[in-house]
Amino acid sequence: MSRFSYHKPKTIDDALQLKNEKRGAVYIAGGTDVIVQIKNQELRPSALISLRNIPGLAHIEVNGGARIGALATISDIIQHPTLAQAFPLLMEAARRIGSVQIRNVATIGGNLCNCSPCADMALPLLVLEAKVRLRTSETTREVPVEDFFKGPGESCLLSDEIMTDILLDAPDVNTIAVFMKKGRVKMDLAVASVAVLLDMEGDLCRKAHIAAGSVAPVPRRLREVEEKLEGTILSEQTISEAQKIAKSSVVPITDIRSTEDYRREIVGVFVKRSLERALEWSHK
Ligand SMILES: Cc1cc2nc3c(=O)[nH]c(=O)nc-3n(C[C@H](O)[C@H](O)[C@H](O)COP(=O)(O)OP(=O)(O)OC[C@H]3O[C@@H](n4cnc5c(N)ncnc54)[C@H](O)[C@@H]3O)c2cc1C
Repeated sequence: MSRFSYHKPKTIDDALQLKNEKRGAVYIAGGTDVIVQIKNQELRPSALISLRNIPGLAHIEVNGGARIGALATISDIIQHPTLAQAFPLLMEAARRIGSVQIRNVATIGGNLCNCSPCADMALPLLVLEAKVRLRTSETTREVPVEDFFKGPGESCLLSDEIMTDILLDAPDVNTIAVFMKKGRVKMDLAVASVAVLLDMEGDLCRKAHIAAGSVAPVPRRLREVEEKLEGTILSEQTISEAQKIAKSSVVPITDIRSTEDYRREIVGVFVKRSLERALEWSHK
């Protein structure tokens, strides 16, 4: 392992200044991605700048919508007293991440900033049309999560920016939410995953937001499937068509975890099962 210095700034401005001064420095939040990358020699930082001592960055506020600090851990999200009620999909995804030990330190901001195609928290945030707040020493901007990811390990985050918050608008009432994930074993990164948020009136699908992970260079919305579903009556036939479109609209790869064909198949099956479940719930 290469040598690096370790810094614990107490303000965002100090963190930004350190990053600016120290060429090759990297931010660290929970470290569950960064430390693995350093151990595997995929990352050789000159310095690690921990964001964990900056007050307010882990705060969660639910007030109709929600503001989740980028340093909130996955366990903070699961244990929050009201977040689950407003955004059950966030909870479903959070519960499926790693183990208790990982969830206790892994942060939502780290999950997004690592930019893995299989980032579990990205999927609920995509279908909920969340935004991320990015700060430099002088500016603050808000970017839809959908525009944040640029490729595996790549985002629109500039080198002089920190992610401070994830912002969610108040959820639509009466939406039906489903999250499905397939790993090789229970505690594993996803082979494929799907999040679905539907607004149903009986059998009529008024609005469909669907996102998939591990089946493209970035976690992404399945717009073609959404377009097919919106304004249609969910039936065996429309669900089967949506399944086919889901399979053909993704571009998975074969790697150590799975094959391209299997991932394609799983996404189709997850879309089908989610729609069937939504149809069942809409009649309850
Ligand atoms: C055993 C194990 C199991 C795992 N299981 C899962 C799983 O099931 N699902 C899943 O999605 N992931 C999983 N992961 C991956 C990892 O735990 C998550 O991606 C986690 O959320 C990363 O958060 P972190 O705080 O640890 O990030 P870090 O490792 O601290 O940081 C990750 C990246 O984000 C950057 N960064 C972090 N915070 C900020 C910020 N606020 N502003 C700017 N840049 C920032 C860092 O510089 C780094 O590039 C697993 C990892 C391990 C080791």
